[in-house]
Formats: sequence, structure tokens, C-alpha cells
Amino acid sequence: MVVRTIPVDDFDLVIFGATGDLARRKILPGLYRRFLAGQMPPSARIIGAARSDNSDEEFRKETRAAIEEFAPKADKSELNAFLSQLHYVPIDAKGPGGWDSLKTLMRDSVVRAFYFSVAPSLFGDLAQRLSEYGIADKNSRIVVEKPFGRDLASARALNATLAEHFAEGQIYRIDHYLGKETVQNLMAVRFANILFEPLWNAQYVDHVQITVSETVGVGGRGGYYDQSGAMRDMVQNHLMQLLCLTAMEPPYHFDPDAVRDEKLKVIRALEPVSPSEIVRGQYQADGEEPGYLEDAENPDSRTESFVALKVRISNWRWQNTPFYLRTGKKMRSRTSEIVVSFKEPPHSIFDESSQRRPNQLVIKLQPDEGMVMTVMIKEPGPGGMRLMQVPLDMSFADTFGPDGADMPDAYERLVMDVIRGNQTLFMRGDEVEAAWAWADPIIEAWDSAKTLPEPYDAGSSGPEEALGLMHRDNRRWREIRA
Ligand code: NAP
Repeated sequence: MVVRTIPVDDFDLVIFGATGDLARRKILPGLYRRFLAGQMPPSARIIGAARSDNSDEEFRKETRAAIEEFAPKADKSELNAFLSQLHYVPIDAKGPGGWDSLKTLMRDSVVRAFYFSVAPSLFGDLAQRLSEYGIADKNSRIVVEKPFGRDLASARALNATLAEHFAEGQIYRIDHYLGKETVQNLMAVRFANILFEPLWNAQYVDHVQITVSETVGVGGRGGYYDQSGAMRDMVQNHLMQLLCLTAMEPPYHFDPDAVRDEKLKVIRALEPVSPSEIVRGQYQADGEEPGYLEDAENPDSRTESFVALKVRISNWRWQNTPFYLRTGKKMRSRTSEIVVSFKEPPHSIFDESSQRRPNQLVIKLQPDEGMVMTVMIKEPGPGGMRLMQVPLDMSFADTFGPDGADMPDAYERLVMDVIRGNQTLFMRGDEVEAAWAWADPIIEAWDSAKTLPEPYDAGSSGPEEALGLMHRDNRRWREIRA
């Protein structure tokens, strides 16, 4: 199946932080892939901006190297044409240098978008200068990277600063998890089929599990991570978004505010989490491999590299159906998945020995995107009625063939949504604040209790206590497979 591409309107996209890691690894290679797909108009321009004193030519050379490194499989025959659409302006977010040149470069009557791929401490400066110099107009869009605040107070302050210069409809707060094909498919599966929605509630769903595990540690960015931890870095944003899309009511229309209104209602319905229903962990040293404390360069660190928690949603649909969330570093494999675990049939006509297992719908986000539904069938062959569980597998790579497996990366899809002016897959300010309002008391309780996270082995599925969180409810995590 060939992926359909609809070209976007002509645009000038300024990437602040164009020489940084995110721009080199994701944004610029992603834009090249959109160019190859025919989605970028030939007159569209990408303007790199950072303090480094580059020329257009130097920026093009660096971008070529980034694309060769991070999009190795992309056809390079059109790379020169793409690079000719790139420009560069040296700019300091904190000073006056470069802003007049940027203003002169920008064209009228095209979409103007500004990607803030810089440290969050610069978001306010950029917003202020863009409006002060008259570079952004009322149709311009800004894309704001994560982290969006580190607690409710800082998120509110940042929202207020951005609001001084931009309307909410111009602000695109990025969470790249929302750009994943499967996350959007979750909405298609739920709301475009009659099959699942009648069962998607506490009457038929026993529980939901959301796992995001990584194999990497925090080495290299330990100093930054140690100020944050798994709760701030992953749960408050990525896992929260997955929870919302799984739990929300059907919006009246697939429209940005209708979808985000429903997500917000879920966050507001989250109950406070009791400390006994949270497990925090820190990975240990493994032979030559450093443990968290060494990676963080902080022998006394109480920051968690793993967290598992049981979350309750206080509304009609999810009464008594818990959501278990877990995420961690240095775990057995890189896995992101949502498991909707259904209840057993109310009465079984089969023997107790027939090995019945509840149906599960597994929505896989990585490493391979796709969905699996487990169902019980009769074990083939004579010898009586024995049951077995089989997966109904819909991996996108299998279903859509090589073209389908080559779906746009989350970043490239989201950048194109910015140009199209579609905010559905971006977080609204009130959503981010509500998520912090839920997370803050959990983090504050840890800070005041001063307890140490539980140690866990690198390459495991987290601390034993996290398994216990489910076992004591007579449930099990789906195994994280190597
Ligand atoms: P980075 O590698 O440190 O790059 C920072 C960029 O900002 C560089 O281009 C730097 O270039 C520029 N910069 C620094 N100070 C500046 C100033 N005063 N004025 C103008 N430009 C300035 O950071 P990154 O990893 O790309 O991350 C960028 C943002 O994305 C951060 O908010 C980060 O939290 C977020 N993010 C990154 C990732 C990732 O995988 N890297 C993932 C998720 C979110 P000069 O030094 O030349 O000015």
C-alpha cells in the first residue's frame, strides 16, 4: 500500500536550535523525508537559527551530514534540491543580534512557523523577541518542545509568558508520542468500529496496563535527568497522553478542541495516588556498567529511573477498572505498549483445566507499531475440547507492506500538522497544567518522605515491588520480552 501524501501550503519554518541534537537527529531528517514524499512545496523554506556563526552553506553541509547519519535509508538523489531550500541566521535568543536579519528574510503570505528546539529556559525569550520585532503575526505558529515546566507553578508561568505574545491557537506543545501512527490508530479503532466501544468500560475491561521501557540509562545526560526523574520525564506527559486517549469519551467530532476537551476531563477525573500504590526504582551497577548513581554523578540521589503506579479514574466508565502505568530506564527491552485486559466470560461451559485466558488488546507503539488481539480458540486436532490462546496480529509492517512500514516518523508528521494548522495532536495549556496538578502531590510526597527508590537490576523488568503492585490485585504485567 502506498502512503498517501497531501502537500501542505507554502511555509517559512524557523528552527531555533537548528544545530542541536534534536534538530539534527529528528527534525531535519524528518523534513527531508517529507520533501521526498512530495509534501513540502518547492518554494517552502527552512531557516536554521542558533548562536553559532554559520553561513547558509555551512548549515546545508551540516544538515547533509545529519541526514546521511540519521536517515541512512532515505534516497539521497534529491538531497541537493532539499538543501537549496535551507537558510541560516545566527541569532541569540537572549540578545538583539540576528533578529533584524531574520525579519528581512521572512516572506509575507506564507505560513510562518517557529520551532523552539532549545532549552526551555529560552522559550519565553524567543516568544518575546518574535513579537517585539514584529516577526510573528497573528497567523504564525510556535512549536514548543518538552519539558513544559517541572511542576504546576512553572507550567503556569510558562503558559502565561507565551500567552502574552501568542494566542492558544498558535501554540503547539509537542509530545511526540501523539505523532505515532498507533496512537492515532487507537482513536480509529475505538471510534470508527462498533466492535470495541461497547466493551470499552468497567463492565468488560478488567484493567489497563501502559508500559514504556527503555534499555538505555541516563549516562551522558545524568545531570539533567537527576533534576527530573521518570515521573516528570515520562509519566506526566507521555504516559498521561496514552492514558487519556485510552480512557477518554468519544469526542463529538475529530476536532482539536473536542479531542482535547475529552482528554482534559480524564486528567481531571484522576484520583490522587496513595504512596502504597507507587513503586520507584533506580537501576544498579552491572559489572563494568555504571548504575544510576554513577550515571547521575550524584551518590546521594533519590531520583527515580523507574516508576510503576496504579491509577484510578473517577468516572462512570472506569469505576473499579485500574490503570497500571510503568516506565523505566535500563530495562530488558525497548517497549511501549498499552494492554487492555478484558474480563473473563461470566460463565464458562468448559472444564476448569481448559486454560482459559482473558482477551487482551495490545496496542504496540515500539519497537514495531501495530495491534494484537488475543483470543481463545480450540486447540486443533482430536483429543477433546482443549482451549488455547492465539494472537490476531496486525503489525503495520505485515499489513501495509514495505511502504506502510515506512510510515512517517512522529516528528515529521507533527511538523506537517503545524503547517496545516491542526492542533489535535498537540497538548493544550490547560491539559498540561491539569497533568501537573495531578503529578505534583506525588512528587512532593516523595520529596518530603525522603525515601530511597528500590534498586533493580539492569536488563530486568524493574524492581520486584512493581510486580507485587499487580500480584496483590491478582493480576500480572504483560512480560517485557527481550
Ligand atoms: P542541544 O543539543 O543542547 O541544542 C540546543 C540548541 O540551542 C543548539 O542549536 C544551540 O546552538 C541552541 N542555543 C543555545 N543557546 C541559544 C541561545 N541563547 N540562542 C539561540 N540558540 C541557542 O539540545 P537538544 O537536545 O537539541 O534539545 C532541544 C530541546 O528539545 C530541549 O528543550 C529538549 O528538552 C527538547 N528535547 C530534546 C530531545 C532530544 O532527543 N534531543 C527529545 C525531546 C525533547 P548554539 O550553541 O549554536 O546557540
